[in-house]
Formats: sequence, C-alpha cells, structure tokens
Amino acid sequence: MTAQTVQEGDLVTVIGLEVHVQLETETKIFCGCPTEPAERPNENVCPVCLGLPGALPVLNEGAVEAAVKIGKAIDADIPEETRFHRKNYYYPDLPKNFQITQYDEPICADGELEVAVEGDRRTVAIERAHLEEDPGSLQHVGGSIDTAEYTLVDYNRAGTPLVEIVTAPDFRGPKEVRAFLAELEEVLEYLGVFDAERDGSLRIDANLSIIPQEETDGDGTIGTEALEAANRTEVKNISSHKGAEKALAYEETRQKNAIRRGREVEQETRHWDESRGITVSMRSKEAEKDYRYFEEADLPPLRVSHWKAEIPIPELPRARRERFQGEYGLSEEAASKLTSTKQVADFYEDVAGAFDPDLAAAWVADELLGELNYRDMAVTDVEDRLAEVKRLVELLATEEITAKNAKEVVLRGMLDDGDDPDTIVDREDLGKTDEDEVQQAVLEAIEENPDAVEDYESGEGGAINFLVGQVMQKTGGSADPGDVNGLLRAELEE
Ligand code: ADP
Ligand code: MG
Ligand code: ZN
Repeated sequence: MTAQTVQEGDLVTVIGLEVHVQLETETKIFCGCPTEPAERPNENVCPVCLGLPGALPVLNEGAVEAAVKIGKAIDADIPEETRFHRKNYYYPDLPKNFQITQYDEPICADGELEVAVEGDRRTVAIERAHLEEDPGSLQHVGGSIDTAEYTLVDYNRAGTPLVEIVTAPDFRGPKEVRAFLAELEEVLEYLGVFDAERDGSLRIDANLSIIPQEETDGDGTIGTEALEAANRTEVKNISSHKGAEKALAYEETRQKNAIRRGREVEQETRHWDESRGITVSMRSKEAEKDYRYFEEADLPPLRVSHWKAEIPIPELPRARRERFQGEYGLSEEAASKLTSTKQVADFYEDVAGAFDPDLAAAWVADELLGELNYRDMAVTDVEDRLAEVKRLVELLATEEITAKNAKEVVLRGMLDDGDDPDTIVDREDLGKTDEDEVQQAVLEAIEENPDAVEDYESGEGGAINFLVGQVMQKTGGSADPGDVNGLLRAELEE
C-alpha cells in the first residue's frame, strides 16, 4: 500500500491511558508527613520522603484501603499477594533516585469500567491499577522546562500516594477518552478516595497509534500483533478531561497526516503544551528495561485480598443513575445531573423522600444546580446549607410561597446574601396571602368555565355573575364579591 492510496476512513485510531490518581489520605504513602498543601516549599518533608540515607518506608494503610476500594469499583482482582518494586531513574524531583511503585504484581488486575459515549455503552478494560509514590515538583524560573534560567525543587508533594490506572488500548477516539475520564472521576469521588478540586489530582499519560483498517479483525477488534507493531506516541502532561480530548485530537490529526504523507510515526514521548494547543516531542520513548526494576526489599509483600470483602463501597454512579430512573421516574438527563456527585445524589434522595420526587428533581437539578452554576459555584460550596435548601423546597411543597418567589427571591437571596429562607420570606413578606389565593381562584374559574367566558366576551354581561359565584365557592366565601368581580373583569379584559 502506498501512502497516496490511504484514505481517511482506512485508518483506525487506538488510544490507551495511564491515569495517575492522587489518593485523599491525610499522610503520605510511606511516611507521616501531611498531604495537605503547605504554605511554603519543602515544609511537609522528613528523612523518608527526602530519601535520606537509612530512612525506611512504612506503608500507609489508608492508601491500600483506597486502592482496594478502587479495585472493587472496577471489578478487578485483588491478588493474594502484591509487591512493591523500585523504578530507578535520576531526576531532581526524585531524591532517592528511584520511585517506589508496583511492577509485575500490582494490587488490582483485570478490571473494567462501563462508559456511555454519545448514547452507546462501551466497556473499557482496565489492565491494572497499582500503588506508587508521587515525586516532588519542579518550578522552572524565568522560562519553561527548556528555557528556564534555573529550576527550584519542592518536595512537599514527594511521597503523595497515587494509584496509576492503566487501561487496555480500547478507545477509538478522543471523545471516548473524555467520557471515560468523566465517569472514572465520578466513581473515584463516590468512593471518597479522590478530590477533583485538588490541583494536579488527576494526571494523564495518553498513548495513541493509528492502525490501517485492514490490519483490524472483521468485527473491529484489533489483535495484539497489530497493536504491538503500531508505532505509538505517549503524550504526557495532561491534567483535565478537556485537555485529554484536545491533546488526543491534535495527536490523532498529526499522526494521520504523517501517514498520509508517507512518513512513519516516531515511537516517542510527547509533551502536551496546553497554552499552545499542540504536542511537542520530548524524547524517544523509554523502554521498561531502562528502569532496572527490582524488588523493594524495605517493604514486605502485602496480603490484602480479603479486604475486598471487608471494605464496603457505596452504590456507584451508573447503578445509581439507573435506579433513579426506575425508582423516581426521572429522565436519563435528570438522573445524570442528580448523580453527578454523591453529595448531590444524597441530597436529592433526602428531598425526594421528604416531599415529592418530581419537585425535588426540578429544584435540585434545575434550580439549585442552575443557580450555582451561574455563580461558578459547586454543591461543595453550599454543603453546610443544604438543610436550608431543603427548607426552601418545603415552603414550596406546602404552598407557603409561590414558585416564582421561591426561585427569584428566596434561592437567589440565599446564594447572594447568605440569608436563610425563613428570614427572606419574613423580610420580603412573601408568605402567600389571601389575595394570592383569591387571584388563584379567579384564574381557575376562568380556566374551568370556557362557556361562561365566551358568553361574557360575546357581550352577555350576566355571565360574570356565574364566575363570581364560582370564585366565592372556591374561596369558601371568604373573598369580597366586589373585589372578585373587579379581578375577573381585569383578567378577562387582558
Ligand atoms: P509501556 O510499558 O510501554 O508503557 P504498556 O504495555 O504498559 O506499555 O502500555 C501502556 C499503555 O499503552 C496502556 O494504556 C496501553 O493501553 C497503551 N497501548 C498499548 N498499545 C497501544 C497502541 N498500539 N496504541 C495506543 N495505545 C497503546
Ligand atoms: Mg507506561
Ligand atoms: Zn515525609
């Protein structure tokens, strides 16, 4: 096949991910230093995470628990025995000259995650998920990595616990990757092991290759041979879903163009330059043998397979989404919104149980999330005020205030001024009055008696008396007939 004969449709994009997830533990993975962001560089450090001679690592149980939860959520095997290895390389952010990680005996193997991509369900195989420590961080002063005058190093992050999740090359395009990352992040947040808001908490290396259609099997699967034969690039420095999609779309086009022009794609590591929106070559791809992996003799093997049965995990987003649709009769869209975080889902169920599922859905998914979104806020910003929001829905459910006031005055006032709903209702005098009720009855009487309305409009003045009677009945006789007459005329003449 010559390059000229290759058409766009003849090329298949193949992507596999290595996702580094920062685990939400209080202390680092092999020492007692806090993982909370420090005020100053090199504050949260000790001999262990600085790699000083003679310092010995002690494994953080919380990190192992988090990894087991992740394993459970992706339906992975937790082997009888799992081990740590040293991955050797020199870099200034790695003071020991090796990273403690897991190699051929990771804590989780053979998992999967189901993802909805534009309406289609896809199962992405997860080859492994392993525990490792994060290196420190470098600050390039006076330029970027290749032009800086000098570089500062901060070890506060060194030793932060990570789980690296490695997927099979199951993605066929950048959009699928984005959907997967969103789903994965939701799952991790549900498990309570991850905080998406934390800087650098999700870092992605994305591998991409282009394979000619004829090298794929008839049913669209791609054999191991073709996968291994394909030259792939590994794009580093991706830190968001959107970044992943953009970096991979760029890389997909770049590789396809190279192939169409008859050039070979280099097997290499590339760097995603977010601000320029391009990937740039960093180095030829390192091979496994370069790292001289050997067993970490300072840590004993770990036997935690029984934890899988012992550690509970909550209902996961997909299951909850489906249950919301069945149990509360919600649309898929509403169910998705309402399960986007565990906190929102818990709050929805609380409100739905107390009042009415539809009212709760409208108020949590549309009004609350909408008003928060408008203010660039998240539910976490109002987590200690959810009881107030629930009270607002109660005021509405018991018809003490109108829907218009609930939204336009109370909810907005709560978010903008920090007042609670009852205070706002009192201050603005929003309690539904007798007048509101009479007005409501007037509208109903008109709605329910089109014949009388027609008579009135065709000049039969007497028809109004019938309508006044209807309103008097609805209000239990409490309204003033003269007022009712005026209100009716005003409505009918509009
Ligand atoms: P390495 O040891 O070189 O990092 P791995 O076999 O561990 O290679 O795979 C790393 C990542 O590369 C995995 O996420 C995997 O899905 C992905 N990958 C493997 N083959 C391909 C390919 N042909 N195209 C794109 N990604 C691939
Ligand atoms: Mg790799
Ligand atoms: Zn330390």
